[in-house]
Amino acid sequence: MSEEKTEVVVLGAGIVGVSTAYAARQRGMSVILVDRREPGSETSYGNAGIISGGSISPLNNPALWKALPKYLTNRHAALRWNPVWAVQNAGWVVRFLADSAASRFRPRATALHGLIAASAKLHREWIVKAEAGHRIRETGWLRAWRGDAIAAAKQEQALLAEYGIASELLDRQAISALEPGIVPVYKVGMLHTETASVDSPGEVVKAYARMFASAGGDIRQSDIKAIAPDGDRWRVVLADGEISARHVVVALGPWSAEILRPLGYRVPLAFERGYHREFKPNPARPLRRPIYDIDGGFIMTPMEQGIRVTSGVELTGRDAPSSFAQLDQVVPLARGVAEFGDAVGDAWRGSRPTLPDSLPIIGPAPRHAGLWLAFGNQHIGFTTGPATGAATAAMIGGAPPPFDVAPFAPDRYIS
Ligand SMILES: Cc1cc2nc3c(=O)[nH]c(=O)nc-3n(C[C@H](O)[C@H](O)[C@H](O)COP(=O)(O)OP(=O)(O)OC[C@H]3O[C@@H](n4cnc5c(N)ncnc54)[C@H](O)[C@@H]3O)c2cc1C
Repeated sequence: MSEEKTEVVVLGAGIVGVSTAYAARQRGMSVILVDRREPGSETSYGNAGIISGGSISPLNNPALWKALPKYLTNRHAALRWNPVWAVQNAGWVVRFLADSAASRFRPRATALHGLIAASAKLHREWIVKAEAGHRIRETGWLRAWRGDAIAAAKQEQALLAEYGIASELLDRQAISALEPGIVPVYKVGMLHTETASVDSPGEVVKAYARMFASAGGDIRQSDIKAIAPDGDRWRVVLADGEISARHVVVALGPWSAEILRPLGYRVPLAFERGYHREFKPNPARPLRRPIYDIDGGFIMTPMEQGIRVTSGVELTGRDAPSSFAQLDQVVPLARGVAEFGDAVGDAWRGSRPTLPDSLPIIGPAPRHAGLWLAFGNQHIGFTTGPATGAATAAMIGGAPPPFDVAPFAPDRYIS
C-alpha cells in the first residue's frame, strides 16, 4: 500500500474529470486524476459527439407536459420508463416534472447558455492544443422533423435568436442540398450552425488526458473505494493505495452520488440511460453531420468507426439489465434515412447523470472544506465538460469562474 500527497485529486476521468484536472494543472496545482478505466471510457465515450451551442432548453421544459400522454404509453422511442423505478424514485420524478413549469424555464436556459458558451470556446481551443483538431467538424447539427413542424421549428429558432445563437430554417430541398446522401424524409429542418461535432468523443477525452499528462499531471488507474476528511486534508482510499490531498473533486458522472453518502449527502441524481450501435457507412452516400430525427427519437452521427445511432431516454436504475427495445425501434427508421451496412461491434449502454432541474452541480460541498462537486451534466456533458472543469479549478484556486456558477450551486439540493 502506497500513500501519495498532492494538492488536488480529481475522481473520475470522463470529460468532466479530465477537464477539471487539466484546468487545475494549468493553474499550477499538483493534480492526480484517478479512474478505474482509461480516460473517456464510459459515458464520455458512447455519446453522440455533439458540441452543442444551442442545447439551452432542458429536457424538462414546458413542452414536456404536452408530450406526456405519448410518453405515458411507454412505447415511444424518445422516452421509456420503468414503473417500479418511477415509484421508488417518485420524489425525483415529481421534482423533474415540477421543474418543467414555464416559470422555471428562462432561468435554467440562461444558466445553460452561460455554461455552454464558455465550454464550446474551450473545446475549440483545447482540441487543437491536444493535437486532436482533425476530429472536430464545424458542419453544425441538423434537427429534423418528418411532419409539418414549421411552427415548432420557428419557436425553437426564436428562442435561440434571443440568446444570439444562429440557426437556419430548412425545407425539404434545402435539407437535400445540405445532406445529399440521405433519403428526403424530412419536411422541416433546423440547422444549428454554431454547433460542432467530433468523430470520436472517447478519443477526444483521451487526447485531453494526454495533454494533462504532458502538462505535468499524474493519471492513476485504480478503483476508488472511499473519501474521508483527514484534518485539513482528504484521504482518498483506492483499491491499491491511498492519496492525501488538500482538495478532492468528485467528477464520477453517474457514479457520483454514492461516494458522497457516507458524508451525509443524499444527492437526487437519476439516470437517463441511452444506447448506441454503430454501422458500416456507405462511402458513396456519406453523412456530413449529426442528424436528430425528432419524430423518430434518435440521433445519427458519422463517427470514426461508422454511423453511430443513439437512442432516446430510458429512465430506470443505472445498473438495471439492458433493454434494447428503443434501439431496435429506431435502427430501421435510421436505415430509412441513411444507407448503412452491418453493425460494427456490440451495442453500447450509458447513463446521462441528471438532477431534477437538469442543471449540473458545480461547486463546493456545503459542509466540507476542500470537497468539490462537478457532475450531473445530463444530455450535454460532452459539450459542457470543459467549462465545468474550468469553473471548478477556478473556484479551487480562489479565482472567478468563466461563467455564472450560482445556478449550479450544490446547496440547491444538499445541505
Ligand atoms: C446516448 C447518449 C448520447 C449523448 N450525446 C451527447 C452529445 O452528443 N453531446 C453532449 O454534450 N453530451 C452527450 N451525452 C451526455 C454526455 O455523454 C455525459 O453528460 C458526459 O459524458 C458525462 O461525463 P462525466 O465525465 O460526468 O461522466 P463519465 O464520462 O461517465 O465519467 C465518469 C468516470 O468515473 C469513473 N468511475 C466511476 N466510479 C469509479 C470508481 N469507483 N473508481 C474509479 N473510477 C470510477 C468511470 O470509470 C468514468 O470514467 C450523451 C449521453 C448519452 C448516454
